[in-house]
Amino acid sequence: MSKPIVRFAPSPTGLIHIGNTRVALLNALYARREGGTFILRFDDTDLERSKREYADAIEFDLRWLGVPPDVTVRQSERFDLYDDVAERLRISGRLYACYETPEELEFRRKRQLARGLPPIYDRAALKLTPAEKEKLEAEGRRPHWRFLLEHRVVPWTDMIRGDCHVDCASLSDPVLVREDGTYLYTLPSVADDIELKISHVIRGEDHVTNTAVQIQIFEALGAVPPIFAHHGLLTTASGEGLSKRLGHLSLRSLREAGLEPQAVASLAVLVGSAEAVRPVADVDKLARLIDFSHISRGPAKFDEHELEQLNARLIHEMPYAEVRERLASLGANGGETFWNAVRGNLGKVADVAEWWKVVNGPVTPVIEDRAFIAAAAQALPDGPWDATTWKAWTEAVKAATGVKGKALFMPLRLALTGLEHGPELGALLPLIGPDRARARLAGQAA
Ligand code: GLU
Repeated sequence: MSKPIVRFAPSPTGLIHIGNTRVALLNALYARREGGTFILRFDDTDLERSKREYADAIEFDLRWLGVPPDVTVRQSERFDLYDDVAERLRISGRLYACYETPEELEFRRKRQLARGLPPIYDRAALKLTPAEKEKLEAEGRRPHWRFLLEHRVVPWTDMIRGDCHVDCASLSDPVLVREDGTYLYTLPSVADDIELKISHVIRGEDHVTNTAVQIQIFEALGAVPPIFAHHGLLTTASGEGLSKRLGHLSLRSLREAGLEPQAVASLAVLVGSAEAVRPVADVDKLARLIDFSHISRGPAKFDEHELEQLNARLIHEMPYAEVRERLASLGANGGETFWNAVRGNLGKVADVAEWWKVVNGPVTPVIEDRAFIAAAAQALPDGPWDATTWKAWTEAVKAATGVKGKALFMPLRLALTGLEHGPELGALLPLIGPDRARARLAGQAA
C-alpha cells in the first residue's frame, strides 16, 4: 500500500487548544508511524478572521509537540485552484446559482415547518430561466452557489466509526460560494484534499455530516474519496465543548504553565482510547499506541488535573540529559546527582528552583527541641559525605538519643530544610554538605 498523506487543517483564527492538538497528533503520528507525509493546511479563506500570528503560533505549537509538518500550505494562496474547481462543477451542472436573500430563505423555511415538511432548500433557483436570472442581476442581486446533491444514501467505512451512511435526500444543497465570491470551507477542503493527494482524513466527529457532502463532491470531480476517521471530541471536565475562546486551555497557556510537551501529547492521544492514559516520553512510542479501531466515538473528557499528574509522572522519570540545559537556565547547576535527588518531588521542571534553594540556602531552620538537635549535630560524621551518610548518621543519633522513626527524622528534616516534606534526605544531605548542615543544626540561616 502506498504511504499515507494526511493533513491537519486548522483555521488560524485563534490559538489551538488540547482538542485541536488531539486531531493534529492523530494525523502527525499516524503519518510518522506509517512513513507517510504530514501536511499542515491552514484553512484561512476567511481573510478577515484569519491571522498570520495565529498561523505562526500553530506552527510553533506543532514543533514544540515534536511533530513539525512535512509540508505547510495556506488556502489563502490557492484561490486559483478553487476557482478552477468551482468552474468545473458549474460546467457539469453540479454548482448552480441561487438568488434568494436570507430573509426569503427564512420565510420559506418557516412555511415548510408549518406544513410539517423538512426545512430543506427547495431548489427553486434551479427553475430560473436565463431571462429571470438576468433580470435579478439587473436588479443588483449577486448569486450564491449551491452544490446539487444527488438524493441518495452515501455510505463510507470510517476507520473509527465503522460503517457509516448519511441520506443526502434529507440535506439542503450546500452553499459552496457566497454572494461576494468567497468560499465556504467545503469546496476548498475537497479541492485541496484532491490536489494534495490526501489519503486519510482524520478529524473530529463534528464533520460526519460534511463527509457525505464531501464524498459527493469528490465523486463529482472524478476523484476517489480518501479514507475517513472521525473521533469523538474532547470536552472540559464538566462536559463543555472546547473552543478557541477558552484561552486557558490553549497549548500556549499549557506550555507557559510549565507543562511538558510529552505530557500534553500523551493525554491528547491516549484519552478516549483503549490504552491507559500514561506518560509516554517518546513520540514514536506514542505513535505505535494509536489504534483507530479503539478510539472512542463518544466525547472524552479533558481534565487539567490529570494533565498535571501526567506531567509530574513524566518528570519523575526524566533523564538528566534531557533537562541539563533547562536546569542551567534556571540556575540549578547541581548536576545529575542533584536532579536525580529532587525530580521525584517535582510537578513542573521549574519547581526545581525550590529544591536548589533548599540545598544551597539560605534555609531558615525550624528547631523545636534544641537539645535533641544539638545531640544530632554532635553525631554528624566527618566528610566526605555520600549516599550512605544519612543512614550512618541517623543510626548514630538513634543510638545516642534512643529516638526513632518519625520522631527522629522529622526534626532533622525541619532543621536541615525548614520544611516538613521533600526529597529523600539520604540524597539531599551530601548535596547540602557538612558546612551548611552544621550551621543549620546550630539554628543559623545557611
Ligand atoms: N478547518 C476545518 C476545521 O478546523 C477542517 C476540517 C477538516 O479536517 O476537514 O474544522
